[in-house]
Amino acid sequence: MSTHKHYTGLIERYRDRLPVSASTRIISLNEGNTPMIQLQNIPRLIGKEVDIYVKFEGLNPTGSFKDRGMTMAVTKAVEDGSQAIICASTGNTSAAAAAYAARAGIKAFVLIPDGKIAQGKLAQTLMYGAEIIQINGNFDKGMALVKEIADHAPVTIVNSINPFRIDGQKTAAFEIVDDLGFAPDYHCLPVGNAGNITAYWKGYCEYAAGRVCSSRPIMCGYQAAGAAPFLAGHMIDEPETIATAIRIGHPQSWDFAWAAQKESGGWFEKFTDEQILAAQKMLSQYEGIFCEPASATSLAGALHDIGSGKRSRYGYFSMFCCASCDD
Ligand SMILES: *Cc1c(COP(=O)(O)O)cnc(C)c1O
Repeated sequence: MSTHKHYTGLIERYRDRLPVSASTRIISLNEGNTPMIQLQNIPRLIGKEVDIYVKFEGLNPTGSFKDRGMTMAVTKAVEDGSQAIICASTGNTSAAAAAYAARAGIKAFVLIPDGKIAQGKLAQTLMYGAEIIQINGNFDKGMALVKEIADHAPVTIVNSINPFRIDGQKTAAFEIVDDLGFAPDYHCLPVGNAGNITAYWKGYCEYAAGRVCSSRPIMCGYQAAGAAPFLAGHMIDEPETIATAIRIGHPQSWDFAWAAQKESGGWFEKFTDEQILAAQKMLSQYEGIFCEPASATSLAGALHDIGSGKRSRYGYFSMFCCASCDD
């Protein structure tokens, strides 16, 4: 008998660490299992001996890491008998919600901020058959509306305030440790709504508690200068940046993100749109890795911190969530 096992998604792979039972119907598009690509040319270019890896999340089924959270959130929504899901989105969440709803055979409602979503993402979301509701206002307003609607209608919210989203997304940390054989020294990532920093930190903590790895990384959260509530120390009302996926002034996982920063000994930093776009171009031109601006914020941050000598004695690790069909 063949021992070969076809990969069937992150819930199957990590089912003993996720809230599913033997009878749960799993809604999956074989997300996860994304490659870690070590940068070869950029370290040489900056003249530093550093190991920088990129986790290429653009290879998820709808083009971003949001699929990790959505397989879990939609699986649980269906298990609980829900016939519809709803989210506010700057782009990637809407595509993921729409795709997994299509897979499950349920309805998806997506609230998008007017004019501030990548056209490719909008087209993709429409193709999956989602009900798109364009609103007058930004992501934060959309989020408030979603909460109001879910209070009165039989729909499940699948934004990252849904705890199952975080559970699905934490598997990216598991994959990194399983791939490297240890936890990285640093984990660099963009921070918008702060669900992902929350999820990664949860994943590393669970692996460390289970002694799968002996250490946890320092978490470095990077924001766009025009949308940097974690640098301001308070929520902000008119976030502005070209990096639409992190154009958020009222992060829903505010307390969790601060906990990740404090417990890991990490920090937040912010970068201008020019710095973000320069990093995006650098990653494309020197490494052949294309990502959207939000993801490039983590390279901008990693290079800044390496350059400032903050971490020069260590091996570095960086991660990006690249969405390939965007902007
Ligand atoms: C959603 C998203 C982010 C922001 O993640 P949060 O969990 O909102 O902090 C960053 N980059 C990409 C590509 C995204 O899709």
